[in-house]
Amino acid sequence: MSASIIDGKDFAAKIKENIAKQVKILKEKYDLTPGLAVVLVGEDPASQVYVRNKNKSTKEAGMNGYEYLMDDDVSEEILISKVKELNQDPTVHGILVQLPLPKHINEAAVIEAIAPEKDVDGFHIINSGLLATGGKGMVPCTPLGCIMMLKETLGNLSGLDAVVVGRSNIVGKPMAQLLLNENCTVTIAHSRTKNLDQVVGRSDIVIAAVGVPELVKGSWIKPGATVIDVGINRILKEDGKTRLVGDVEFAAAAERAGAITPVPGGVGPMTIAVLLKNTITAACRQKGIEQPQI
Ligand code: NAD
Repeated sequence: MSASIIDGKDFAAKIKENIAKQVKILKEKYDLTPGLAVVLVGEDPASQVYVRNKNKSTKEAGMNGYEYLMDDDVSEEILISKVKELNQDPTVHGILVQLPLPKHINEAAVIEAIAPEKDVDGFHIINSGLLATGGKGMVPCTPLGCIMMLKETLGNLSGLDAVVVGRSNIVGKPMAQLLLNENCTVTIAHSRTKNLDQVVGRSDIVIAAVGVPELVKGSWIKPGATVIDVGINRILKEDGKTRLVGDVEFAAAAERAGAITPVPGGVGPMTIAVLLKNTITAACRQKGIEQPQI
């Protein structure tokens, strides 16, 4: 294996340490404790694990974490009224509604109900508009975490050829926008893209955000490229147990890449760390305080 491994767990731990220091300063200097409210509808096991981890990390960083659990059959109206109540709550600086929501609820309507300045997931249309036009909004956590890892690994990204495989509103599109903001030449590939192998093969940066186990083959990777694997796929092994794999054929890609994120232990841990960072950013902006730099 020639690639260096981009250790998201280690990087996230450093960010969380830095966040805890920032929270301490905000408490001591401004009597401000950033607060994050997470709303979970239903009992999806994966979502329950995410919410539990988010709440644990929030508290470990010295912030206030609030968790609201709602039944699977809650009406859209009640969910939106909860969001509006949190919009008004001065102790809550960030609101996250865990997706996906049950089919009878219009996700877009719920996201649009979140006050844009408290939308720490960065999914509100105002925030996507600000990202697209170079404004100062809230940036989606997973893509922001990917950019931070890329900058830590490569330094300046200017002029590099980047491909984002996947065009979802929550990962692919904001990821492409962030790469564009870093002056990369960006290609967005998706399920209708022709000759994906060639598109990937000419890219210095490959971001895989598809949700198809090992779709991106190791042999496609340009030698020395940096590979960020966002995919989280649970696959069944022969012994009946499951294991997590990404969207990239890891072992073969690591033979050619310059650097690569593993799954698990790559992008995943960064997402929660960035969520905490976004909550501090939101709290400081709402209070008109400059965010402590450490
Ligand atoms: P999504 O299903 O909303 O979007 C998938 C995208 O992949 C679509 O735009 C589609 O066009 C594209 N696609 C599908 N099949 C393709 C193919 N054969 N070739 C090329 N493109 C194809 O998924 P999402 O929400 O963007 O998530 C993508 C993956 O990232 C999932 O595995 C998800 O679990 C993971 N994810 C991880 C984190 C994290 O914190 N690590 C966060 C969000 C999502």
